[in-house]
Amino acid sequence: MTDEVKKLAIIGSGPAGHTAAIYAARANLNPFMYEGYVVGGSAGGQLTTTTDVENYPGFPEGVSGPELMQLFRSQAARFGTEMVGEDVHEVDFSQRPFRIKGDETEVQAHAVIIATGATAKRMHVPSEEKLWNQGMSACAVCDGALPFFRNQPLMVIGGGDTAVEEATYLTKFGSVVYLVHRRDELRASKIMAKRALENEKIDILWDTVLEDAIGDQFVTGARIKNVKSSEVKELDVAGIFYAIGHTPNTQPFKGQLDMNETGYLIVQPGTQQTNVEGVFAAGDVHDHKYRQAVTAAGAGCAAALEAERWLGEQGIA
Ligand SMILES: Cc1cc2nc3c(=O)[nH]c(=O)nc-3n(C[C@H](O)[C@H](O)[C@H](O)COP(=O)(O)OP(=O)(O)OC[C@H]3O[C@@H](n4cnc5c(N)ncnc54)[C@H](O)[C@@H]3O)c2cc1C
Repeated sequence: MTDEVKKLAIIGSGPAGHTAAIYAARANLNPFMYEGYVVGGSAGGQLTTTTDVENYPGFPEGVSGPELMQLFRSQAARFGTEMVGEDVHEVDFSQRPFRIKGDETEVQAHAVIIATGATAKRMHVPSEEKLWNQGMSACAVCDGALPFFRNQPLMVIGGGDTAVEEATYLTKFGSVVYLVHRRDELRASKIMAKRALENEKIDILWDTVLEDAIGDQFVTGARIKNVKSSEVKELDVAGIFYAIGHTPNTQPFKGQLDMNETGYLIVQPGTQQTNVEGVFAAGDVHDHKYRQAVTAAGAGCAAALEAERWLGEQGIA
């Protein structure tokens, strides 16, 4: 570790991390970024695992996820963000300057923005790797409006509020939406469950699990199993959407920062400030509600502005 203390360290290189970097670099904070490598996916974040992004403003024809993240990265680099392609494994926020340990690099920083995102949970059915992004997705809001899902039967896996929300959203596009749930009762809140039960386009398949997706190039069906009767059957569907939750990438911060029961960082209402002064959070790592690239980018901007102000108050920026 060098004795040099960075003004600002950013952990994560998705839309939140890079937007924070662009703002911080333009404010002469010389941000140092751990891009991430293995934990939480890869440098560039979740969008690097998808094909078309059609809802990020500024791209009327859509843009591929990897291309969009390359553009974010180039813009952050243009203003002088220093980046290392390492994961962070350990932090010490109990003393100032804060300490951050990556695979090989250890830095000290006066302020930190955590933008490590979240990872959508997968079921790892046999054809998942082959058909991921080819009709299988973990984000109905992101992918549901794509042309190949229009007027087709679709399937959502899960039984919580998110699953009901995603199924309801997909009824705008699909001819029918099967909601596959392994129990005989939804975990969703009463009001959400009622909404699903009353929606004529949602067909709830109780006590049922997904065994596999069917299709060569693209999803054409799903093999499902009733866990009570053990009956296995195949349904024609053009899309299978997982809504079984996300895991926030917060392992290195356990015991140092306040988190909710599922591990999402908690920020003070109306701010990006965590419970440790000078440590900010942005994007999916704290936002389990919207989980969109544009909201993550917005939070990254807010975190950088707050960090800049805070550093100014400390006489550092
Ligand atoms: C398949 C798919 C398709 C999607 N499509 C869309 C879409 O069309 N439109 C849309 O708006 N949203 C879409 N989303 C959601 C969108 O990708 C996320 O909301 C957004 O990427 C969140 O940005 P973020 O910066 O908070 O986190 P992420 O994008 O998750 O980035 C987190 C970053 O942190 C890094 N990281 C994690 N842990 C560590 C660590 N310990 N040390 C260092 N770095 C670490 C990761 O490597 C990554 O670089 C999609 C998501 C998925 C999974």
